[in-house]
Amino acid sequence: MVHEFTRVLVLAPHTDDVEFGAGGAVAKWVEEGKEVSYVTFSIAEKSVPEGLPKDILEHEVTAATRVLGITQRNLYIYKFEVRKFPQFRQEILEILVSLRKQLNPELVLLPSLADVHQDHHTIAEEGIRAFKNSNILCYELPWNLFNFTTSLFIPLEKQHLEKKIQSIRCYQSQESRNYASPEFIDGWARTRGVQVNTTYAETFEVVRWILR
Ligand SMILES: [Zn+2]
Repeated sequence: MVHEFTRVLVLAPHTDDVEFGAGGAVAKWVEEGKEVSYVTFSIAEKSVPEGLPKDILEHEVTAATRVLGITQRNLYIYKFEVRKFPQFRQEILEILVSLRKQLNPELVLLPSLADVHQDHHTIAEEGIRAFKNSNILCYELPWNLFNFTTSLFIPLEKQHLEKKIQSIRCYQSQESRNYASPEFIDGWARTRGVQVNTTYAETFEVVRWILR
């Protein structure tokens, strides 16, 4: 069965990328008893608004992943400098390879290869190289994508969407962004839901699905 997987690894270039792109799916998988590991590669110390502690995103990602139900021992935080990931490709690849050996995930979530942010693109490319034995889906971040193939949908219940919204709300240092509003997140999930005749959904691009 294509649905039979238990070990999921989600890769967030920066804290909160996964909450936006796949927060509902993660909440659903945790509810179903799957083991979800969350890795972020930057707490974007240089992008924190003036007057706030530089490590605030470390605290916010801890709170946000807790809302989604991710066990804290499954949260991995690396501190690469934001916007400089292309300079650290090899180091990032080596981290991904060691995570593969440690976690052996059946499903890996990445940003899209079409994502225009250089850090997201680096994680997408190195992730595809590192996880050759895993199913790979890319999550949607509409503000960074000019093309995205909606090839897989995950229907969500209201409680999954609520956890997604609540997890995004944990990022108070980032709340001024227009796409962080609950109205937008709700409308986006409803748009994807309408496409598959359900109320709420998230959509993903299939990069690789292995039928064993
Ligand atoms: Zn990001």
